[in-house]
Amino acid sequence: MLAVQGAFVEHEIMLNNMGMETLELRKKRDLSRDFDGLILPGGESTVQGKLIKEQDMFDELRERILSGMPVLGTCAGLILLASHISNDEKKHFATLPVTVKRNAYGRQLGSFFTREEFKGLGKVPMKFIRAPVIETVGDGVDILAKVEGKIVAVRYRNQIGLSFHPELCDDVRIHKLLLDTVSKKENA
Ligand code: GLN
Repeated sequence: MLAVQGAFVEHEIMLNNMGMETLELRKKRDLSRDFDGLILPGGESTVQGKLIKEQDMFDELRERILSGMPVLGTCAGLILLASHISNDEKKHFATLPVTVKRNAYGRQLGSFFTREEFKGLGKVPMKFIRAPVIETVGDGVDILAKVEGKIVAVRYRNQIGLSFHPELCDDVRIHKLLLDTVSKKENA
């Protein structure tokens, strides 16, 4: 769990309730502990990006993602993964070939809840908070969900990126998807 800022506790509670152990990555030395998957939580991507660099975790985390460590990025976490951000000059890990737009729903629709079809899972509850949308996807990116025609969930290799917050909903199927990716990798 990247734990420099944002909604990481909710992800932890969900995974702990599923019987999984979690650890918080706050400083470079935390990266020396043993972990098999990574969650980049929601929050504020600019702040998170800055703290990851300040704590000297950027290169190693990026390297792990590129080497196939299963990762779930939610909301700000999706922004950290995106190779392009259409309304920001910054880039962060840039390991997921998509273009995202930050705060894409404007002020009035800053926060909303819906249930939509998610590839392979059926209808899934989705909580959006000042969410990004995925405007375009690159080669090899699988689109997993759309809300009103806009892409809100994708998968590329072992990276899953979501515009919304599954950790704030009462449904563990998306976290299970991450855990399945971890076990598939371990058994490969
Ligand atoms: N608006 C935030 C950002 O751009 C993301 C919002 C969220 O993670 N809930 O970083």
